[in-house]
Amino acid sequence: MSECLFCKIVERKVPATVVYEDDHTLAFDDIHPQAPVHALVIPKKHVAAVRDCGEEEQALLGKLLLTCAKVAQLKGIADSGYRIVTNTGKDGGQTVFHLHFHVTGGRHMRWPPG
Ligand code: AMP
Ligand code: ZN
Repeated sequence: MSECLFCKIVERKVPATVVYEDDHTLAFDDIHPQAPVHALVIPKKHVAAVRDCGEEEQALLGKLLLTCAKVAQLKGIADSGYRIVTNTGKDGGQTVFHLHFHVTGGRHMRWPPG
């Protein structure tokens, strides 16, 4: 069995509030939301981070961004606007090493993020 937390969510061995799913991507609510809407969009296949992606992940990366946009639609924040973030590695603030895009919105997002 995979030791990766997000692989376990894909396998439904760890519960999550799933927002959207298709053949290659899964979206679920973040367990510690940083905004009124905070979802995570992940590939079903295990990839650790953007830095680990190669040419073979090109289509998957595009698909993940399209899923982010779908999630924003489903959550009702497409018109008001939202932020898509992916943290990569220690200094990037990554804590779960299965590629994920944060989709946050429902309030004005500040910049710089810190
Ligand atoms: P990052 O720090 O960019 O790696 O983001 C990891 C995110 O995963 C954080 O926002 C956590 O709140 C979130 N998270 C951790 N465990 C879970 C879980 N079991 N279900 C949903 N989100 C989680
Ligand atoms: Zn994984």
